[in-house]
Amino acid sequence: MNCLDFRRRLSAEPRSRDRALLAHRDACKEGCAAFWQRAQRFEDDFETALAMPVPEGLADRILLVHATGERRREMSRRRTWMAMAASVLIAFVGAGLFWRHADLGSLPALAVAHMPEEMDALDLTQPMTDAQVEAGFVGRATHLKGPAPVGVTYVHDCTVGPYPAVHLVSRMNDEPVVALYMPGKMIDKSTDFHRDGWDGRQVALRGGTLVVMAQGASRSTMAAVERGWRAAIEGPAAPGVGQI
Ligand SMILES: [Zn+2]
Ligand SMILES: [Zn+2]
Repeated sequence: MNCLDFRRRLSAEPRSRDRALLAHRDACKEGCAAFWQRAQRFEDDFETALAMPVPEGLADRILLVHATGERRREMSRRRTWMAMAASVLIAFVGAGLFWRHADLGSLPALAVAHMPEEMDALDLTQPMTDAQVEAGFVGRATHLKGPAPVGVTYVHDCTVGPYPAVHLVSRMNDEPVVALYMPGKMIDKSTDFHRDGWDGRQVALRGGTLVVMAQGASRSTMAAVERGWRAAIEGPAAPGVGQI
């Protein structure tokens, strides 16, 4: 074995214990022993490098970093979308609350909402006297200009929301009909409403506002009660003169 053969074989198998190889190493005077030493050290270093412990879970962490990046991007996309959706939702809810709030402040809403405390009044059947009815309006600084409708069974000065009112119940055809008179013109034109089981009509009077409402009363009864209170509050319309 010459030096070239020795070095070629050693490069291929640094750890070889081949007898001819080792014999050349021990006998050679051309530096093959030193070459063998370097080869062993290189091999030692290489093995040491390979033997370095791989940090635990490194592969998992690399995958995690990748997955986390993906997830962050996904979250970011989702968050952007959520933020947009939320702002749209907030706009809708806001508008809904606004309209609901505006609606809750409406006269029909306030009228219906104030009813529970005076539901018993619907069952009263004893007619009130004209003086009692008149007294109820005086309590709201209003004087009746015409006779009160017949069959008034309840007169009470109460408040509808923020508005001072005269709360009246009259019976016609055995149907109780509520009338709420509020001084001050609050609406420009009369409109019907249906709300929480109540049928009603808010009526624009001269200088005042009337809400007529009932649960299940006929339209004709409601209309008759409305006419009755309008005549009592505004005074009977003189034929030919019309509304002032
Ligand atoms: Zn040699
Ligand atoms: Zn009332």
